Amino acid sequence: MARIGVMGGTFDPIHYGHLVTAEEARVQFGLSQVLFVPNHYPPHKTLDGVTPPEHRYHMTLLATVTNPSFAASRIEIDRPGPSYSIDTILELRRAHQAGDLFYITGADAILQIVRGAWERAAELLTLCQFIAASRPGFPIDVDDLRKFNVTGNPLANIHVIEIPALAISSTDIRRRVAEGRPIRYLVPEPVETYIMKHELYRGAGR
Ligand code: ATP
Ligand code: MG
Repeated sequence: MARIGVMGGTFDPIHYGHLVTAEEARVQFGLSQVLFVPNHYPPHKTLDGVTPPEHRYHMTLLATVTNPSFAASRIEIDRPGPSYSIDTILELRRAHQAGDLFYITGADAILQIVRGAWERAAELLTLCQFIAASRPGFPIDVDDLRKFNVTGNPLANIHVIEIPALAISSTDIRRRVAEGRPIRYLVPEPVETYIMKHELYRGAGR
């Protein structure tokens, strides 16, 4: 069976941190495809201040189009209400087994999951494999995760990968645009062009 990677996020905007992480996961785990899944709106942030989903989806599409193994998915933005990863994984589980599905996260996100902060986190952890990327400022190993684990899951299905120091975040990119500082080389060129064309993040103090 094909092994599929899933990278969920707000992607406001998508940046090279996301793309490098997904590519590294693809190669290390022999994934045939990585789906990038922008959320409709994030459960833990208010809709207020988050760029409308269609803009975030289009930027995700622009960023992934040149990699034959990457695809942008509408699965969450077409589902009304807040986006819960567990609903997405359950949907993908209809066609894929737990051993063939790899949910890719940064260190901050996997920590939230084992702490039980995500919707039905304990169940989510039983439904697929996890690839957790270490992110500058968020070093992790599975022992660290065990300390915070409240889910009862033994965490054997969490695989940690090291990503070359990438301190890129969407928050920083939004701030840079608002301040008129460059974002070149932090996001793919078409994403930068899209941001300028639609005047995104101009007044962003977020
Ligand atoms: P924000 O600053 O708005 O929170 P973000 O840069 O963290 O944005 P998200 O859309 O929140 O991006 O994150 C989507 C996923 O990508 C999460 O699992 C997050 O941990 C991971 N991620 C974000 N930035 C990086 C990075 N530079 N390297 C590796 N993983 C990252
Ligand atoms: Mg984030």
